[in-house]
Amino acid sequence: MPGGATRTASFADTIGGWFRLIAMGLLVRFGFIGNTCLTTTRRTRRIPRRIEFFEGTLTSTDEIESVRIFDTTLRDGEQSPRTSFDYNDKRAIAELLDEMGTHVIEAGFPVNSEPEFEAVSDIAAATDATTCGLARVVEKDVQAAIDAGVDMVHVFVSTSDVQLQDSMHASREEAVDRAVTSVEQVRDAGLEVMFSPMDATRTNESFLVEVVEAVSEAGVDWINIPDTCGVGTPSRFAKLIALVDDHTDARIDVHTHDDFGLASANAMAGFEAGAHQAQVSVNGIGERAGNAAFEEVVMSAESLYNVDTGIDTTRITELAKLVEEKSTIPIPVNKAVVGDNAFAHESGIHAAGVMENTDTFEPGVMTPEMVGASREFVLGKHTGTHSVRKRLQELDYDPSDSEVRAVTKLVKEFGAEKEQVTDSVITRFAEEVGVSEAESEEVRV
Ligand code: MN
Repeated sequence: MPGGATRTASFADTIGGWFRLIAMGLLVRFGFIGNTCLTTTRRTRRIPRRIEFFEGTLTSTDEIESVRIFDTTLRDGEQSPRTSFDYNDKRAIAELLDEMGTHVIEAGFPVNSEPEFEAVSDIAAATDATTCGLARVVEKDVQAAIDAGVDMVHVFVSTSDVQLQDSMHASREEAVDRAVTSVEQVRDAGLEVMFSPMDATRTNESFLVEVVEAVSEAGVDWINIPDTCGVGTPSRFAKLIALVDDHTDARIDVHTHDDFGLASANAMAGFEAGAHQAQVSVNGIGERAGNAAFEEVVMSAESLYNVDTGIDTTRITELAKLVEEKSTIPIPVNKAVVGDNAFAHESGIHAAGVMENTDTFEPGVMTPEMVGASREFVLGKHTGTHSVRKRLQELDYDPSDSEVRAVTKLVKEFGAEKEQVTDSVITRFAEEVGVSEAESEEVRV
């Protein structure tokens, strides 16, 4: 049908056109067309890039120079409702984060309790990563963090009017004074200091600039911009980061929440706008809907932006399972990167394509091997003959085409009843249909 074919082609062109426009818009917005970014030396990738984005029209993947990972699984992650980590949980998670090359581990809130203090203190002593302890802008909080032996103290104070009035019960002036005093207290102890104007995305812009300038003058090393209530959008958040960058010499870190599902997108927008580091939690756990996910930010940086984070990505699945177990927060099956379905295929067209070339219906730039996971072909209502033949051969059958079709019909009917098509089920179907068994090793696949 020529009319249909034409329509399909023009639709594809329209979509392609949109992507090109969006890509060009981003390049122009962040100033990557016609300036130095196109002439910088390209890194050697550990895994060769096989897929061209945007039909090859994207001229550069160098929007981000470097990505540092500040993991807050043990602090904000632990603040997930109905979750707590005991001493051994914290030690085990910190050990794996450290082995994987995480740059900063926020181990906890030392003033909180004696066991918390002990955990932070022992993690600081046992890891190579920079260990960070959280503190309110209160002398005893800061002192507890210093006494715990951390490398970095993260002090925070509310700066939005709603939090100053109805949470902190303090004036803007008090907030600035206490922020400066706490930054100085950490500096005097000779430790690295990070400051967070909490609820920055709902803070009056000129007041935010005032706070940033005050703590910068006090010698802060890092300014973290928290989207505490998750109201940021990528372009607005990027503008905010650029604004803060104009008013400080400190390095910028971002802390984004997932209330609208934009946490990781906002973190990446922060990097594009000049942030050096993002705060993330494994599986995205944390307050309310959680934080930007470790696995999403690391793999976006590695696979989509071509940045070598220095993180051992092949242990991401192991890390996700460990945090799932210790936090008792189940990973959703459709969770990006680490969900059970992240590299699973059921529908006939997708499964057949992936069997021929995995790049057909996977990102291509991210494989299960890169994150220590494995690919799965699930049999069910949407299954096609390719998956059924593959599974029968794995179970030592040598099916004819008509036998494959007969078993596929049974599988689809069974799957439509919301039943799991396990190996024992498919064996039963093979016997019902009378599929012959493989005769020798040679015909096995
Ligand atoms: Mn938070």
